[in-house]
Amino acid sequence: MQNQGISPGLRARVALEKHGFSFTHSLGQNFILDDGFLDGIAAESGVGEGEAVLEIGPGPGILTSCLAARCRKVLALEIDRKLEPVLSEVLEGVDNAEVVFTDVMKCDLPALLEERFPGETVQVVANLPYYITADVIERLLTCGANIGNITVMVQKEAAERIGAQTGNKNYCALAMLTQYYCEVEELMDVPPERFMPPPHVMSRLIRLNRRTDGLRARDEKLLLRLIRSAFRMRRKTLVNNLTGDFGLSREDAEGLLRSQNLDARIRGEAMSVEQVTLLSDALGELLQARAHG
Ligand code: SAM
Repeated sequence: MQNQGISPGLRARVALEKHGFSFTHSLGQNFILDDGFLDGIAAESGVGEGEAVLEIGPGPGILTSCLAARCRKVLALEIDRKLEPVLSEVLEGVDNAEVVFTDVMKCDLPALLEERFPGETVQVVANLPYYITADVIERLLTCGANIGNITVMVQKEAAERIGAQTGNKNYCALAMLTQYYCEVEELMDVPPERFMPPPHVMSRLIRLNRRTDGLRARDEKLLLRLIRSAFRMRRKTLVNNLTGDFGLSREDAEGLLRSQNLDARIRGEAMSVEQVTLLSDALGELLQARAHG
């Protein structure tokens, strides 16, 4: 049952004050204390009644509470134990929310999710700590857990990089990696004044919707290595990266690109997600053939 009467936002303000909570800048602690706004974020995420949700960094737990009202169960991972008394007051009576105090980058995420939500697809909703945005997104996408759509508040600049397309100066390994798994949807821009304390940057809410077109590399670990390699030295050609990172001869690397109708002088950053996926399959075949012969 949800706690009644006093809103989670008001509970949070009272509890933060009562427990003398001080914000830790290095943990990306910029909270949003407006119930209505956070409920809007929960609504934008599209999570539904029967669903399991993972929240990263619940802070004082207002978004957690809004999510709990819309889904079956929320698991929230928070690094800062100082928030424990605040969270227990704000989430009192919210039976379908559980907080685990852990570092999202260090815990065994697939094991934790499988234990709490066996066999289920888990939707992610979070106002992310900005110092680890890229690492968290990469982790969510590649850790092997059964994760569905990911709705996250990030720095506007990070959102622009994640959603950048081939040819754009912001196109980067994280964009290629994210767009291999998901379509990037911009939901809304959020000004600093929405946060407490206000960050120095604009923020953007984005949703990463899982691709449904069946694009799939045969070996995703190899694909990730190839994506990293493609962007490692942006000024160099892909042939150079392939020879350096995969031990290919120049001739083999050029042959590989030709087999994919790619120009021998192409730079990694000029490839589309579809092209890099097909190239990784062809690279896998070449490496396997060499291993066996
Ligand atoms: N969800 C709250 C909101 O919307 O107001 C708080 C969001 S605040 C931007 C980010 C939260 O992530 C903070 O509560 C912070 O303590 C937590 N956090 C920072 N690093 C973390 C980590 N490595 N693992 C889990 N939580 C982390």
